Amino acid sequence: MSQERVGRWDSPERRALRELARRVVAKEVAPYVGQWERAGLLPRELHTTFAAAGLLGVGFPEQVGGSGGDSIDAAILTEELLQGGGSGGVVASLFTHGIALPHIVQAGAPELIDRYVRPTLAGRLIGALAVTEPGGGSDVARLRTRAVRDGADYLVSGAKTYITSGVRADFVTTAVRTGAEGYGGISLLVIDKGLPGFSVSPPLDKMGWHCSDTAEFAFDEVRVPATHLIGQEGQGFALIMQQFQSERLALAVQAYATAQRCLDLTLRWVHERETFGRRLASRQVVRHKLAEMARQVWLARTCTRAAYDTWLDTDDAVTEVSMAKNTACAACDHVVDEAVQLFGGLGYLRDSEVERHYRDSRILRIGGGTDEIMNEVIAKRLGL
Ligand SMILES: Cc1cc2nc3c(=O)[nH]c(=O)nc-3n(C[C@H](O)[C@H](O)[C@H](O)COP(=O)(O)OP(=O)(O)OC[C@H]3O[C@@H](n4cnc5c(N)ncnc54)[C@H](O)[C@@H]3O)c2cc1C
Repeated sequence: MSQERVGRWDSPERRALRELARRVVAKEVAPYVGQWERAGLLPRELHTTFAAAGLLGVGFPEQVGGSGGDSIDAAILTEELLQGGGSGGVVASLFTHGIALPHIVQAGAPELIDRYVRPTLAGRLIGALAVTEPGGGSDVARLRTRAVRDGADYLVSGAKTYITSGVRADFVTTAVRTGAEGYGGISLLVIDKGLPGFSVSPPLDKMGWHCSDTAEFAFDEVRVPATHLIGQEGQGFALIMQQFQSERLALAVQAYATAQRCLDLTLRWVHERETFGRRLASRQVVRHKLAEMARQVWLARTCTRAAYDTWLDTDDAVTEVSMAKNTACAACDHVVDEAVQLFGGLGYLRDSEVERHYRDSRILRIGGGTDEIMNEVIAKRLGL
């Protein structure tokens, strides 16, 4: 099924970006996904390859070393990565800078931009974002990792978990408590890997996103220069919440793009597979399943793109973003499940792409704010 090609998603520049991404994904990603999934991480060279092609910095301004464009360009890249045979793990790990850098770009000092943002967008450094703690992820305002001012430094103690690219990362944009209890006491610090007292767990073993390494961190009085504070003390919660909007939209894109890919793979399969002397595609029950899968992909994409419009055109898209994330993830769940079902036994085998999407996509309803937290946000907006 062809992608919906309308309005701001289909300018000549965006068509060119799609073409470029398609070529790079076909040559540099698709042939190696299985190998990376088994290795449990992406090679660092993939970052430099994407940077050299002008694709790593998409969505970041040229003034900070990016390739320009906005969040729609970044979404197009995700669509092409999944459509071209990439995986959710590749998207999460190769583009972790999409969650690690925006706070620095928005509020960081020029020195932080030179030291972390430019080299990351050039593919030379890898960054991660550490908000979640073993004690809880949904309730960000209650985080406990503490940063205490000591002369020209902060001393950081605490723990973070489930950190994407945490094993490979060179630096971590870290949410810490510099002040009192509650959201007003939270700040963001950029912390270098390898500092004394900063330990990193072996990769956590996960259901999906196998090529995306995930780590747990422990901080034991890690000495971090106060110049690594992003913005002001106490500004961290607001920065995290603002950037959560783009992360949630990106996860919604990953959901509808995964669903579209599974729909396409299944359409091809039902034309090939014969049972009881007829092609699967000729059975009404199968045809209706595919019709419903297509409807849900369309719904997810349309809803997500509408949320992008609100986000780019207005100051407040919190309700629409939360609704889009839940809509796209629910659609994805349905489509990947039906895809596995229609592939039969093959759908359960590690070698089939739909099996990987089935496992990979389960995180989408958890990461970046769970279904339940999205509904809490929507309920508050309803005045409840
Ligand atoms: C593969 C992977 C990658 C990740 N990457 C990162 C990363 O890079 N950086 C990072 O900081 N974090 C990351 N996370 C963490 C992720 O954001 C959290 O797992 C998520 O926010 C949920 O937090 P939690 O796991 O602590 O669950 P909890 O907050 O303990 O929630 C458990 C359950 O209770 C529900 N719940 C919680 N509060 C309420 C409520 N008030 N009402 C109703 N239900 C509620 C939740 O929806 C959930 O179903 C990652 C997680 C995974 C698995």
